[in-house]
Parts: sequence; structure tokens; C-alpha cells
Amino acid sequence: MTVLKPHILWNAVLFLLAAALPCSMRAAEPSAQKPFTVVLDAGHGGKDYGCRGKISNEKTIVLDVAKKIEALIKKEASDSIKPILTRKDDTFIPLDERASIANDANADLFVSIHVNSVAAKSRGREKVHGASVYTVGLHKSEANLAVAMRENGVIELEEDFTQTYQGFDPSSSESYIIFELDQNRHVAQSIEAASMIQERLVSDAGRADKGVLQAGFLVLWATRMPSVLVELDFICNPAAERFLASEDGRKKCAKAIYDAIIAYRTKFSNK
Ligand SMILES: [Zn+2]
Repeated sequence: MTVLKPHILWNAVLFLLAAALPCSMRAAEPSAQKPFTVVLDAGHGGKDYGCRGKISNEKTIVLDVAKKIEALIKKEASDSIKPILTRKDDTFIPLDERASIANDANADLFVSIHVNSVAAKSRGREKVHGASVYTVGLHKSEANLAVAMRENGVIELEEDFTQTYQGFDPSSSESYIIFELDQNRHVAQSIEAASMIQERLVSDAGRADKGVLQAGFLVLWATRMPSVLVELDFICNPAAERFLASEDGRKKCAKAIYDAIIAYRTKFSNK
């Protein structure tokens, strides 16, 4: 792999960063002193629309779902859960800043919320549908890699992204080798959280089950707690888009994720 100098550098930097983290920062157990903190990360924003549909767009859908989850927490569980939103309005936030918000808050769980799509030229794109929840790791299929490439591609809208991400190229599959190194950081708890969310998106929000998957998402990689990335459904499917664009659909998605956060906190909290 001598041809991959920038990626090796990125590899080395992140590996050293991970190794240098004090144990207290790696530990994911919520402490009894502070409330369980969940970071709700509405993807995209501002100049970055995310996926565009015919009647809606990703950045608007996911912000509304994140705000609905926050409202549910404040109404039903404010004594035990502290929600933090990475953005509260239509603002562009770089990926590394999103992770920093969670790291600085010493959060217990990071939930990044997105809407899926497939390339405009793909056959059957109007038929594909269903929810999936990702944890960070090396992808097992080209389809999973494509989702990570698209979500990571937003860094190209950031100024100085080649410096910030140490030469990581979101569109080069070779860059994704680094995610092999992430196998033992909070993997079990991240998968548990992902499964809890996925289960409820299927049973309570009526989404088809596209599974709990792994792929190399930069935003998850940079967090120091169990973290997941939710793809609610496909905006390129007209029926799924109508659901995501509707108040009722967003409410159902928010409630499903909220219920999963409650279940996760109950399982992993010391209280
Ligand atoms: Zn997205």
C-alpha cells in the first residue's frame, strides 16, 4: 500500500489520536452524577441540502425529526435525559464540528439523522425503500460504501477539508481502509443502539427493514461514544418521500427513535 501516502498518514494520525485518549474519555458508561446526554445530529443544513426529492429535501426533514425527538425528551424525560442538537436551524455545520459538540459534552450517545437516496441514474430508484441504521466500520457491500461516500462527500463543501481530514478522499474507496481500525471502539454498544432504533423504525414507524449495517462514516468515526447514523428511508421513492415530508411521518420517526433512546438509557444507565 505504498501508493496510499495520504491515507496512511490519516490512518496513523487517527490511530494515534485514538490510542492517546484517556480511558475516561473512551468509557461509554453514563455516570451517576450527570444526566444521560444524547446528541441529536440533524445531517446537512444551509448550503448543503443533502438528498433532494421532488417535494422535499433531506436537511429539512432531518432537522424537524431531531427537533421532534428533543421536544419528546423535554416533555417526557427531562429529569433523566439531556438532549443536545448539533444544529437548531438551517445552518451548515462541518462534520468534525458535529463530533466535537458530542465529545465536548462527554455525551453518552450520538445519533446522526439522515435520509437515504440512490444515484439518479440507478435503475429501480423509485422502488427502493426502507430504513437502515449504521455504525462505523468497514463496509461489507458496495451499496453500504456508496451511502458512506455520499454522506462523507459533504466535507467537500467545507473550507480546507483536505487539511482538516488529513487528505481523506470521500470518493476514493481506498480511503475507507482506515475504518478497519475502528472495530473495538464502542462497537457493541453502538450496534445495540442501532438495533434498538432499527427495530422501532420498522415496527412503530412502519419502515421496511434494510438492516443494521456498518460503513465508514467520518462523523461517527470522530466521536468518542457509542454512535449511530440513521437513514430514515429513501427520498427517491415517491411513497417514502410523501411519508417523510408529512407531519405524521416525521412524528412516527421521531417517536420510534425517542423510544429507542429511552430503552437504551434504561439498559446502560447506572441509575
Ligand atoms: Zn445525509
